[in-house]
Amino acid sequence: MERTLAIVKPDAVSAGNIGKILKEIEEAGFLIAGLRMVRLSKAGAEGFYAVHRDRPFFENLTSFMSSGPVVVMALEAESAIGRWRTLMGATDPAQAEEGTLRRRFGSSIERNATHGSDAPETAASEIAYFFRGVELG
Ligand code: ATP
Ligand code: MG
Repeated sequence: MERTLAIVKPDAVSAGNIGKILKEIEEAGFLIAGLRMVRLSKAGAEGFYAVHRDRPFFENLTSFMSSGPVVVMALEAESAIGRWRTLMGATDPAQAEEGTLRRRFGSSIERNATHGSDAPETAASEIAYFFRGVELG
């Protein structure tokens, strides 16, 4: 079993798409091991996306991610990291395959509805950013 961190980003929360995204997650066979709604501070978003701090989109990305509440989840499944990224689709919704979450609910490369960890080490540190071990089912 593998765990990944998933986020429903502020655009999808404010558009009323939490439920539709959770339905896809459950129907795809992920176990939701942890779930919280949080409002990230700007500093909190900067800490979360620290690997991108030198990228030109860092300022906009962290402003967006702290612009409203997000839903953070620890998802559990075999090959959860890759399977969640497949369900989300490509980073840019315009490039994402038909039927993927970013294609359905994203509106731009920045406002792309969901986040997913990209490797086991980042999944572990991202889950720890939001959840204490004892909180996970
Ligand atoms: P995430 O980490 O959010 O799951 P990702 O792994 O597909 O997305 P990353 O390269 O890690 O993509 O980029 C992190 C986030 O930064 C993207 O989800 C997107 O919101 C934003 N981003 C990435 N590239 C750009 C860009 N060229 N312009 C604006 N925003 C971008
Ligand atoms: Mg990433």
